[in-house]
Amino acid sequence: MPKRFPAHGVKTHRIYTVWEIAECLRCHRHTVTRWIKARDLDADRTCKPWLIRGADLKAFLGHRQAKPTRRMAPHHCFCLGCKSAQIPDGNFAEYTHQTPTTGRLTALCPACGVVMSKVIRRTDLEAIQAKIEVAFQQAAPRLVSLSEPSSEVALGQEDQTHAKAS
Ligand SMILES: [Zn+2]
Repeated sequence: MPKRFPAHGVKTHRIYTVWEIAECLRCHRHTVTRWIKARDLDADRTCKPWLIRGADLKAFLGHRQAKPTRRMAPHHCFCLGCKSAQIPDGNFAEYTHQTPTTGRLTALCPACGVVMSKVIRRTDLEAIQAKIEVAFQQAAPRLVSLSEPSSEVALGQEDQTHAKAS
């Protein structure tokens, strides 16, 4: 995953030089010139030093950060804990049917154990099943976060409480 640079310090209506961008993002100026040469970042190269509009820089940084999410494969889920796309733990996910055309895919993050879920199109199911095992669920998904303790109470315990009260 590419290194992230904070875009919030960039002023949309300012014109930047490569030096200024490097300073603003705390990166090497060669990194900035590489972006420009790769034509990922728009710059006015007719003058020296090259000039970059703040708006273009902001757009570039935003695009860069959004990339991992956009490239997500159908069987990948976005983990809110890791802030990245993850392949479901154990290559296993549960699918709950929601509407005639969509459903919810639920899986555990292999890195942090948090439940990840996303709405998918039914037509994507086949592509997902080609990559991972999918269990079909009628109601709510069974998977719970590994970080949460089980809240189930043994049946016997409840009977004992009732016995004491009466
Ligand atoms: Zn995670």
